[in-house]
Amino acid sequence: MLTNATPTTDKAPEGAPRPSNLFYLASSRRPLVDRAEGIYIWDQSGRRYIDGSSGPMVVNIGHGNRNVIQAMKRQMDRVTFAYRLHFENEPAEELARQLAARMPAGLDRMFFVSGGSEAVESCIKLARQWAVATNQPQRWKVVTRFPSYHGGTLGSLSVTGDDALSQSFWPLMQKMPTIPAPAAWRDRDNLSMEERGLRYADMLEEKILEEGPESVLAFIMEPIGGAATAALVAPDSYYGRIREICDRHGVLLIHDEVMSGAGRTGRFLGGDHWNCRPDIVAMSKGIGSGYAPLGAMAASSRLVQPLLEAGGFQHGHTYAGNPLACAAGLAVLGEMDRLRLIENAAAMGEALMEELRGLQSRFPFIADVRGKGLLIGAEMVADPETLAPIPPRRMAYQRLLDLCYERGLIIYARRVKGGRDGDNFILAPPMVVTREQVDEIIGILGDALVALAGELDL
Ligand code: PLP
Repeated sequence: MLTNATPTTDKAPEGAPRPSNLFYLASSRRPLVDRAEGIYIWDQSGRRYIDGSSGPMVVNIGHGNRNVIQAMKRQMDRVTFAYRLHFENEPAEELARQLAARMPAGLDRMFFVSGGSEAVESCIKLARQWAVATNQPQRWKVVTRFPSYHGGTLGSLSVTGDDALSQSFWPLMQKMPTIPAPAAWRDRDNLSMEERGLRYADMLEEKILEEGPESVLAFIMEPIGGAATAALVAPDSYYGRIREICDRHGVLLIHDEVMSGAGRTGRFLGGDHWNCRPDIVAMSKGIGSGYAPLGAMAASSRLVQPLLEAGGFQHGHTYAGNPLACAAGLAVLGEMDRLRLIENAAAMGEALMEELRGLQSRFPFIADVRGKGLLIGAEMVADPETLAPIPPRRMAYQRLLDLCYERGLIIYARRVKGGRDGDNFILAPPMVVTREQVDEIIGILGDALVALAGELDL
């Protein structure tokens, strides 16, 4: 008898897609994963891949870390779940203490969730509840950048600058004001990079004034871009000016460090490269490092106290702050320190960047290479002079991704949208990567780029 469960148990004929009861994206099916260790991951046919993007920039400390697994097993033997309204738990307390010690001064209050979108939702809701609790109920707009990615739930999607992702859902969401992402490398004017940085930051002030400062609640940005802008770094002048503008208009500054946090860029937070002082920080991905779904929001007592006095933070998720995820997060931080992974991310990031710049000189269609530590992005164009994009129908980013995959290297690749189209890719191997493995990654990527250049006549 056929039942709904039939497909998962069927074996697909050779070459045909495997039937499945799951559905995700429309993209082609991938092999079943078997195991993983360090920077490597194997499928069930025994093929080995280099995880050159740590999944989607998640597995910061590398796969199969025995100490983290042991710590999780120990926690599982004690208690895996205790509802936070019934019990507090030690791993959550200790993780909050250790994360607070790594935050910019003053961000000493933590709130745990299970992922990046939940972390961004929490930041927006905290900001809004703070405004209400401090008699500023007219403030609700969250200015964001275009393009950008801040998550898939309706609140986080409303501050995501990506029309393709949000267009079906606008009736369910508020449209938020946007300013351009600071892609200063693209500008063809007589300004210095620092002047361009200020110009991009000043667009925030113009937007706040246009919207009415009394209506603007917050500005959200990734200090170092991720999925939407491939490790885009603004000129140094940008960061301080953004803080000044937010201060001038009483606008809260939210840093989304979901991808750039947890040591990946060679500092604990991406914003630490510029000594940024955000009001609220969202984190996820690397703090659980793929061992457990974990996200966190950090905020100052100044923000948290008024709403606690007004009755508490009106927000929460069932799995938030559960002892197992927090024990994993604690062990991840421990391994980051023990193995000096943040230092390694800085050193290996420099090596990887230098090698990628070497490839850029061989393949001029790579128009820009940027990033910090082990969050490195590159943008590909048809004409490096005019920056004309590769025609979208050529699917350059997807072809490069597939050519790398066939050769046993996983990279992260996307198309940047929003008037300044381009195909880009990110290299972000786990922070345990060695110098030899950097060469291995670059060797495979070089081969794939030769094939791409031939295929697309670049
Ligand atoms: N914010 C940023 C910067 C991200 O890169 C992501 C995911 O890629 C998210 C938020 C959403 O995180 P999640 O997919 O865990 O919900």
